[in-house]
Amino acid sequence: MNGNDDSNNPGPGTRLTAAGRRAEWTGTPGRPGAVVSPPVWRASTHLYPDMAALRAHPANEDGNFYYGRRGSPTQWALSDALTSLEPGAAGTVLYPSGVAAIAGALLTVLRPGDVLLMTDNAYEPSRGMARGLLHDFGVETRWFDATDPQSMIAALCPRSRAVLIETPGSLTFEMTDVPQLAQIARTHGMISVIDNTWAGPLGFAPLAHGIDITIMSLTKHVGGHSDAMMGSASAGAEWYWRLRMRAQGLGTVVSPDDAALMLRGLRTMDLRLQRSTATALALAQWFAGRPEIAHVLCPMLPGAPGHDLWARDFTGGCGLFSVVFRGGSSASRDAAIDALHHFGIGFSWGGFESLATPVDPAPIRSATAWPPAHWSPDDRFGVRLAVGLEDAADLIADWDRALAAWRAAEGRA
Ligand SMILES: *Cc1c(COP(=O)(O)O)cnc(C)c1O
Repeated sequence: MNGNDDSNNPGPGTRLTAAGRRAEWTGTPGRPGAVVSPPVWRASTHLYPDMAALRAHPANEDGNFYYGRRGSPTQWALSDALTSLEPGAAGTVLYPSGVAAIAGALLTVLRPGDVLLMTDNAYEPSRGMARGLLHDFGVETRWFDATDPQSMIAALCPRSRAVLIETPGSLTFEMTDVPQLAQIARTHGMISVIDNTWAGPLGFAPLAHGIDITIMSLTKHVGGHSDAMMGSASAGAEWYWRLRMRAQGLGTVVSPDDAALMLRGLRTMDLRLQRSTATALALAQWFAGRPEIAHVLCPMLPGAPGHDLWARDFTGGCGLFSVVFRGGSSASRDAAIDALHHFGIGFSWGGFESLATPVDPAPIRSATAWPPAHWSPDDRFGVRLAVGLEDAADLIADWDRALAAWRAAEGRA
């Protein structure tokens, strides 16, 4: 018997199977729990049985019918499932996209005049939000090196109110010492927010490591099938309530159809992540032995940058990592991507299908250099791989072909 058999501490597969399936949300009239998955409740209007019930003003919480914008059992079941996977969470707010979740959280914690600190490796739309939306509402953003806590300390000022961390960065995979940054934030009266899309709740437990609010793009691993978009923010009681009220103020709501798709995806998330993680590691190891590749940016890979922090704090990973060519041109990198058969060319990740996209972060960095100062400046053109559920041997053969195309484009034998 292994530790996962303990009914007080069930393993991830067991938790994903049970998550959100409350009997009152999976019932037919008179038979609570009669169906396996929460049905799709499409409802704008909830009817009250009588005036007394209407006047009783049901509590503002999932599970109490009020009006469609506050959800129905389908959305409640998804929120409840995500909360149950997040140690330390009192609740989860759903948003129409991951970007909407980031905006919803930042608009909850920030006020005009505040300063937001953000890791320099953050997802580009997060940076764009800082330069656009937040700037227009009187919030200033300062970027710092995600790998160096001293860099965060140097960016502090009396108006610093919150920090947004993304680890590993979803393009270049720098790892952050999350407990240390959360501690710095707490010491200075700041709120810490993390974009935990890469690891998800099975791979990293942010609230248990001192973070106040954890955000995910459910579009990626939870949905898992590249056919729906959604985001979430989970937190302890105090911040959960404020997130919820701000989301209600913004009028955001997710469709019950999409919530049902997310619940369906969630059931197989552990299985999919195990498979794509193992395949990604096999590919990363293969790349590490290839002369065409200068850097493998995959914190799960022993010896890769950030591996020590990953091994210390994380319990899992995913299929997303990057490689950087040894020299060469942008055009040769494009030739390699074009030679791939099994990798689609497209943004996003976390689906069952593999994707490849170019990595060119130099223009969006402000606190750190790309390529990093300790690299050869010639090694700069990267590819991000989102490894799906195909067989590892096929994906490796695909990249063997792609590296041959790269050599041909470079005029190398
Ligand atoms: C995709 C992504 C988001 C945004 O999610 P959407 O659902 O596409 O809006 C946020 N953070 C990271 C790290 C992402 O990869």
